[in-house]
Amino acid sequence: MPLENQQMPIAPATWDLTRDYHSFANSDQVQVTHLSLALKVDFATRTLLGEATLSLRYLEPEVGELWLDSRDLSILSVTTDEAALGFHLEAADDILGQKLVIQLPQAHCERINIRYQTSPEAEGLQWLTPEQTAGKALPYLFSQSQPINARSWIPLQDTPKVRITFDAHVKVPKGMRAVMSAMNDPDTPLEGQFQFEMEKPIPTHLLALAVGDLAFQAIGPRSGVYTEPCMLAAAATEFADTEHMLDVAQSLLGPYAWGRYDMTILPPSFPFGGMENPRLAFLTPTLIAGDKSLVSTVAHELAHSWTGNLVSNATWRDLWLNEGFTTYFTNRIVEEVYGKEQAELEWVIEFGRLQEEMAALPPHRQTLPANVQQTDPNLAFNRFTYDKASMFVHELEHRLGRAEFDKFLFTYVQHFAFKAITTEVFVEYAKVALVEAYPDKISEAELLEWIYGEGLPQGYVGPTSRSLDKVDCALDDFLQGKAASELKVKGWRVHHWQYFLTQLPEVLSQVQLMDLDDTFKLTESSNAEIACDWFRVAIRNHYDPVLPALSAYLQRIGRGKFVRPLYAELQVAGYHTELQQIYASARAGYHPSIQVQLDRMLKG
Ligand SMILES: [Zn+2]
Repeated sequence: MPLENQQMPIAPATWDLTRDYHSFANSDQVQVTHLSLALKVDFATRTLLGEATLSLRYLEPEVGELWLDSRDLSILSVTTDEAALGFHLEAADDILGQKLVIQLPQAHCERINIRYQTSPEAEGLQWLTPEQTAGKALPYLFSQSQPINARSWIPLQDTPKVRITFDAHVKVPKGMRAVMSAMNDPDTPLEGQFQFEMEKPIPTHLLALAVGDLAFQAIGPRSGVYTEPCMLAAAATEFADTEHMLDVAQSLLGPYAWGRYDMTILPPSFPFGGMENPRLAFLTPTLIAGDKSLVSTVAHELAHSWTGNLVSNATWRDLWLNEGFTTYFTNRIVEEVYGKEQAELEWVIEFGRLQEEMAALPPHRQTLPANVQQTDPNLAFNRFTYDKASMFVHELEHRLGRAEFDKFLFTYVQHFAFKAITTEVFVEYAKVALVEAYPDKISEAELLEWIYGEGLPQGYVGPTSRSLDKVDCALDDFLQGKAASELKVKGWRVHHWQYFLTQLPEVLSQVQLMDLDDTFKLTESSNAEIACDWFRVAIRNHYDPVLPALSAYLQRIGRGKFVRPLYAELQVAGYHTELQQIYASARAGYHPSIQVQLDRMLKG
């Protein structure tokens, strides 16, 4: 998923760096290799009635128990083909959920079957009423498994260290469509039965399901869009370059391994920009800006098809291997499809975000591995695992030269395809493939400083873009008293506006704010990024005319990247009454994970 501004991890300690602290699974003794899933989707009770048949591979001869991850699941029975098995759920841990302990028979069984039911509060599922959808006709369900919420809708070994293949049979009300991170057939009649197959092994955080009033439109021979009928045309137009992006990505990192590349455009309460579910990326509708200005998130999710879905992080501490390489690789796709200027702009904006977070955080939290072993793995999703890691990969390209670096990257991805690796496995690989292969370009000390060092290495010079010079000029002019209408903004794209808004000084006068708003119609902006940046400026400066539009925005959109900072700004600026009013009416429309985060934030 793309970065969505999280709080930061606690301080590191001494850990077994090969262990996944976010899973109860005894996967070094016995591994699940295949999941055969049957689900009945019940909108009335907001539950899934499930049957998970797990195929097992034994790594140790004497293993008496299978330990699985679960969260808020009711386990109804556990059986083999012949007999019932003993099982119990251990006490719930706030972060990890519950360990499900299953007594294995003495003669190793190849398969076990678990019948279970999910909770209406399952953290990995969001159930929407018809009113909360765009079409207002049918309810909607979608999952979000990353990082550790697959366990809230399927009992399994929920760790990126274990890869599984799966098949699924999903029952839904007639007239609705189910889609999964698997092979989807758009021609399946809407008779309430859907069959899925994923024959390539995936980590469990990539298991995904959506059910709703979903229509399909092809946008290329291998790609298409699923979304509500009223959004279909706009989505297909906005994401029309996907097939081109696929070609570009393949030319850089080798053949696309997953067959089709379809996308589901979710309702506005989807908490993230996107989620790289294989064969079926999930995307927020806030990317539909009408001018393709925000499609780098599509490139990001596509890039994960190689960096993240082929080569995966072994634990959530190692997330930077997914997100850093993907953020870099996104930039390369953007460069090929939309040109160098666009790619440079996005890189500079990434660097700006990183600097903002560097100023706010203690240095020991500024390393590439996110030391989240003892805390919520969601906290690994920060600017360092995305943007510092991306700066590191850009630096490698700079040192080696593009041609040599591309060879390294291609070989790295092919070498670790369908594997999960730790930071330390990468370091050992890089010592040979980078330091030994290019001794005059990068030293081991430099490599280690980038990965384990705090902040950015001494002397590092960040990216710049000549394309922002005109924005700097406009900013200077405005701050020296020129009227907004006299600023030269012709030809500015979204990134220029974002840069302009985020570079404005903390304090502006009401006259200045009104001038900007009247001239550029910022409060009315239909671009979710520009609107968010403008609202932050306005709240900070108590520019009250934005409040109705801000309230409508927060009730329409539930993407964490936007709602978290906006509520935080309201809190800091002392808008307590307005904040409570807006949150009281907006909360029910947010994804459970966003509700939890905001509840915590607003209580504190
Ligand atoms: Zn991502």
